[in-house]
Amino acid sequence: MDLSYGEELESFRKEVQAFLADNWPPKDDGNRDDQTRAFRRKATEAGYLNRHIPKQYGGAEQPPDSMKGAVISEEFTKARAPMEPRGIGTMMLVPTLLERGEDWMKEKWVQATIEGDVTWCQGYSEPGSGSDLASLKTKGELVDGEWVINGQKIWTSSAMEADFMFCLVRTEPDAAKHAGISYLLIDMKQPGIDVRPLKQMTGSSEFNEVFFNDVKTPEDWIVGNRGEGWLVSRTTLKHERNGIGAAGQVVNLFNGLVKLAKEKKIDGKPAIEDASIRRGLAELEGYVKSHQYSGFLQMTKDLKGESAGVIQLMNKVNSTNMGNMVAKLAMEILGDDGVAAPDGRGIVGLASGAGDVDGLWTSQYMSSLGVAIAGGTANIQKNVIAERGFGLPRDAAAQRSK
Ligand SMILES: Cc1cc2nc3c(=O)[nH]c(=O)nc-3n(C[C@H](O)[C@H](O)[C@H](O)COP(=O)(O)OP(=O)(O)OC[C@H]3O[C@@H](n4cnc5c(N)ncnc54)[C@H](O)[C@@H]3O)c2cc1C
Repeated sequence: MDLSYGEELESFRKEVQAFLADNWPPKDDGNRDDQTRAFRRKATEAGYLNRHIPKQYGGAEQPPDSMKGAVISEEFTKARAPMEPRGIGTMMLVPTLLERGEDWMKEKWVQATIEGDVTWCQGYSEPGSGSDLASLKTKGELVDGEWVINGQKIWTSSAMEADFMFCLVRTEPDAAKHAGISYLLIDMKQPGIDVRPLKQMTGSSEFNEVFFNDVKTPEDWIVGNRGEGWLVSRTTLKHERNGIGAAGQVVNLFNGLVKLAKEKKIDGKPAIEDASIRRGLAELEGYVKSHQYSGFLQMTKDLKGESAGVIQLMNKVNSTNMGNMVAKLAMEILGDDGVAAPDGRGIVGLASGAGDVDGLWTSQYMSSLGVAIAGGTANIQKNVIAERGFGLPRDAAAQRSK
């Protein structure tokens, strides 16, 4: 595998660096939110952010080029410059609308979402319908040109703040399990929606239960055809797993761990000089490097127009495993300090400042257990890798539940 970028990309890198040198960090002391927003606009106009989004929906409309994307991400990360806002809307809903939505939906929501004016939550899971998502029961009935929705969702991240939900709803009760579901968009700020926060062990409440009692949504707020929501949900999930599986955040996390090992002392000496910690770091570095290379392989397939297939699923499993392994070693380095109460932030990746705040590592450790479940559990991913990647027979128990 040739890992050099080549002359053309290195000269593109210089362009990106020059743009960043001129524009980030901001030179004045204005409001940081406004500055970030203005910077993102400028970076989009320059073609660096929102590259895959057409100009008419507020994007940069650049030809697909994963290598340029990688250079941008490397340089923005180095300069600690903001990239696109990370969130359920930008990561999952926007690409789904671009692939499968109507033009009016793209007009209405894409730019507003990428600029952070509207936020989304994902209404898939229900009590009893997590891994076996297609068994979901929340009902949608078409009454006088409106969907009327009744039922319950659970584990809905950010539902408290979200303006809208993209939601899987059973609209064809007589159809087969996977064929009876539609993908509806729902305004969260309306009567009949009851959002109840669930307290997590990190101390925060990112999750919620959401109850629908005769909630209404217009007939045409449906992505894809009626009864074809399962297909649309696959598009969303593909983007969700890609976001979770990216190697960059694991690399950041590992760098944070090395910084912690240099700063914290064990028996009066920097932890990085302790034989067992050194062994742990060396072992982890091997995993992190192999994960990075697996990310390159996924990118290479992408560049050749080939499907990444199970590599994408492997990367999701590996990424979340490593998030947990890195945090475990951090807890070992922290020793008694590691039992400090988590600071309440459920975080993945510790993009900056890792090692400065011990409570962050405690949160990272706790939340790393959850990320391995989000977007489909590691067990389920492994099943799919075994079946589609290695051609092993399908899980008999899963077959019986169909
Ligand atoms: C951090 C986080 C954020 C989330 N955010 C959202 C969100 O915003 N919106 C949303 O809709 N959902 C969200 N979820 C829910 C998530 O998608 C589900 O938790 C997940 O799909 C698992 O479903 P479950 O919890 O019902 O577990 P279950 O399906 O009950 O599984 C329990 C255990 O059994 C195992 N298992 C089940 N079936 C099989 C099988 N066939 N083979 C092998 N093992 C199996 C599972 O791997 C798991 O270990 C979130 C979850 C987490 C942790």
